[in-house]
Amino acid sequence: MTATHRAAPINGSSRTKEELLSTISASRLGTWLSCRMKFYFRYLAGIPKKPSPAMRVGTIIHAVLQQWNLARWRKAPLQDDMVKTVFDHAWANAEKEEAVNWQGEEEETKSGALNLIEAYLKQTTIPVEERPEGVEVSVERDLGKFGLPKLVGIIDLVRQGGRIVDFKTTGRTPDPEMVLHTTELQTTMYSMLYREATDRKESGIELHHLVRLKTPKIIITEAGPATPRQHDKLLHLIGSYVRGVEFEDFTPAPGLQCAGCEFFNECRRQ
Ligand code: SF4
Repeated sequence: MTATHRAAPINGSSRTKEELLSTISASRLGTWLSCRMKFYFRYLAGIPKKPSPAMRVGTIIHAVLQQWNLARWRKAPLQDDMVKTVFDHAWANAEKEEAVNWQGEEEETKSGALNLIEAYLKQTTIPVEERPEGVEVSVERDLGKFGLPKLVGIIDLVRQGGRIVDFKTTGRTPDPEMVLHTTELQTTMYSMLYREATDRKESGIELHHLVRLKTPKIIITEAGPATPRQHDKLLHLIGSYVRGVEFEDFTPAPGLQCAGCEFFNECRRQ
């Protein structure tokens, strides 16, 4: 596998039903399963939304870890102040592209984000001298023989020996069992994609959570290779997605999640 770069997601671009049925990604399927109405607002209507401060922090941390991994892949690890320089550039570029409404808390949030990255780099189980197998690897798998859309995805990092790593930021300390449950769809997709790209089975999957607390916390949850049952379950879920989109079933799913939904106002007006 080789190092590649992730294209920036397009905020607020609408897609046709045909486009949504030609490919499927983990984030799209995850939105579909959490609330079909939200899926409609985000992907079909393409209603643009400004990134929240938490989303911006997640994007920046992702960008810095990508550079950290790419530097290890080039065998020229980031040293001393280089991480801070990469961080400052990523922050400034993101703000230039689309400013966040910080409500006067930009400096505090920025310094918290840098602390979180520094804590991660001190505590990570990934040795700085370990050369990745792949960084930000863009992969796809044709599921046409099952009558399903093409699976597409970008894997954050593949460690030596075929260990898939995904980086996440969160505001709460995650429970390992809950992490394995809520990320199963995504990790199973990565497993399918990795096997398609390499003809090998992954040796395991790691979820690296960077927790945004006053004292930053790093939680690493490990899972074994995906099982045939998990692969079957994923195909079944994608099948249900296809049927739902074909029939335009955008039923809302009101619940606790609505408190954090960016389309709350649009949904109330329906
Ligand atoms: S407010 Fe709730 S029901 Fe409405 S779109 Fe958002 S998550 Fe779905």
